[in-house]
Amino acid sequence: MILAGMSLEELEDLTEQLHATKFRAKQIHNWIYSKSVSSIDEMTNLSKDFREELKNIASVTDTKIKIKQVSKDGTIKYLIEYPDGECVETVLMRFDNRANLTACVSSQVGCAVNCSFCATGKGGFKRNLNYKEIIEQVLSIQRDTGLKVTNIVFMGQGEPLLNLDNVLKALEIFNNDFQIGARRITISTSGIISGINRLAEMDLQSTLAISLHAPTHELRRELMPIENKYPLNELKTALKNYIDKTGRRITIEYILIHGFNDTPPVAKELAHFLKDLKCNINLIPYNSVIENDYKKPSNSDIMKFKYLLEHSGKKVTVRLERGADIDAACGQLRGKV
Ligand code: SF4
Repeated sequence: MILAGMSLEELEDLTEQLHATKFRAKQIHNWIYSKSVSSIDEMTNLSKDFREELKNIASVTDTKIKIKQVSKDGTIKYLIEYPDGECVETVLMRFDNRANLTACVSSQVGCAVNCSFCATGKGGFKRNLNYKEIIEQVLSIQRDTGLKVTNIVFMGQGEPLLNLDNVLKALEIFNNDFQIGARRITISTSGIISGINRLAEMDLQSTLAISLHAPTHELRRELMPIENKYPLNELKTALKNYIDKTGRRITIEYILIHGFNDTPPVAKELAHFLKDLKCNINLIPYNSVIENDYKKPSNSDIMKFKYLLEHSGKKVTVRLERGADIDAACGQLRGKV
């Protein structure tokens, strides 16, 4: 039995089976989620006899950090290995002058969506991660660094809304057991309308981010084959419905690719498309991967694009590049050794 991922109630059932008090369950819970230990032996406020008893039937984790890379900007990329040998990448980002530690987690091994700019999509889809495998990514970071993760973005490998049950269960554990507020959690999607409709019916405080990347059907389908299944006009209807039902502002993610979707006419089309959507816009200058020829835009093109969108009344940010030297930036995750 693996203790990581168990709720306090489940741990109470376990300690009851071992004829121990509920307080023991609370102590174990604290060791797992606050102190982020990796073995039962480290739970030093449990008696030695009880630890031995527990070790006979359980261990804390079955997940390993296979590779760790540290970027010159402090970003850390981990290759996490699960018992079946499958691996995913997880990234820890620190932003200067901020106490926030943001974990970018993966939701699937590989991805079926196959966006043309993304290294993950190139390897195809392998399998969904279960909720325990998702939370193990954050626990691995905490065990390794000794620090508490404060924010989570589901922007690693995989399409979270194609594995929504596990993502929602992981989110519940992040809330209840890690004590990370839902407002500090962002779920990103390439535009899976069925999943957006499901989220619209829930009272979730988390932010929904949409990877839009182009304002027209023709341009978008060159980047994202998912556009053929869920075209922009239908996506927009789903987003309006989501905003109406939840009252929440969404985030639009937009990767800027030199000479492709970063020109002033495209900025104007994007402003027009987003005109009646309650949203903030996050521009992401493209990070090169060896699998394609897309290029990063110049700083002046980025600023011009930003200015045109701001002129339409939207709040626009340009995402700080993090971890590009270790291929940990947006679209660079591969999940390979
Ligand atoms: S960008 Fe996201 S949805 Fe698209 S292929 Fe990569 S992991 Fe999948």
